[in-house]
Amino acid sequence: MRVPLVAGNWKMNTTVNEAVALVYKMRLGLDEIDKVEKVVCPPFISLAAVKEVIKDSSIRLGAQNMYFESSGAYTGEISPIMLAELCQFVIIGHSERRQYFGETGEIVNRKVRAALKVGLKPILCIGERLDDYEAGRTEKVVTEQLESSLAGIGDISGLVIAYEPVWAIGTGKATTGEQANEIIGLIRRNMAKLYDKEATQSLRILYGGSVTAVNSGEFIKQPEIDGALVGGASLDADQFLSIVRQTAKIKG
Ligand code: PEP
Repeated sequence: MRVPLVAGNWKMNTTVNEAVALVYKMRLGLDEIDKVEKVVCPPFISLAAVKEVIKDSSIRLGAQNMYFESSGAYTGEISPIMLAELCQFVIIGHSERRQYFGETGEIVNRKVRAALKVGLKPILCIGERLDDYEAGRTEKVVTEQLESSLAGIGDISGLVIAYEPVWAIGTGKATTGEQANEIIGLIRRNMAKLYDKEATQSLRILYGGSVTAVNSGEFIKQPEIDGALVGGASLDADQFLSIVRQTAKIKG
């Protein structure tokens, strides 16, 4: 019922030339895989060049962040309208944005609203920090983040959620498939309290955090998990292709 989705977050990696070379390496292989939505999220400055390489393919483009205002005196920022010309997706509230750039629940909420307003599909990232995990506060933190990120938002069509335990991002310490499935099930049940059945059933919820070609199957095979948000491993064309292929095989 839900089309699985695998998104690659390239973070602050690749020059424009490197981004083009990377997507060239992935393009044919990714395009051959159907029944999975495939998204690459290069840095802002490479979006236009990558868009050119993937035109006429089934690969979708995403940005890694945006500001919530449409235009104006916000030096250095990129607006939803600007992105909507280039991309279909935008990652919002990534833990690195929360940690290094002070993004609060309120800011994330404004960004999600602004993205939905222009038809961009937000990939909303939520997840607990290590201290919360160790103190058994995962459910509480994830539920609070969900509520603050989505406050006042009535229509969630297009929304994608990525559950990313902060302690698993870029650390090589992925959680287990069962644990991720349990939290993602909780997220879906919480969403069902806030939104109607149809919206909740069609909502895609991804796992993210040290997903590689070796461990991706463990996550993808879980019934609640609809795909993956992949950081480090998405910079390796062969690994990213392998993750997408495994997703197609398991969920397709
Ligand atoms: C991410 O950037 O969202 C991420 C999950 O990174 P990594 O796969 O490197 O842990």
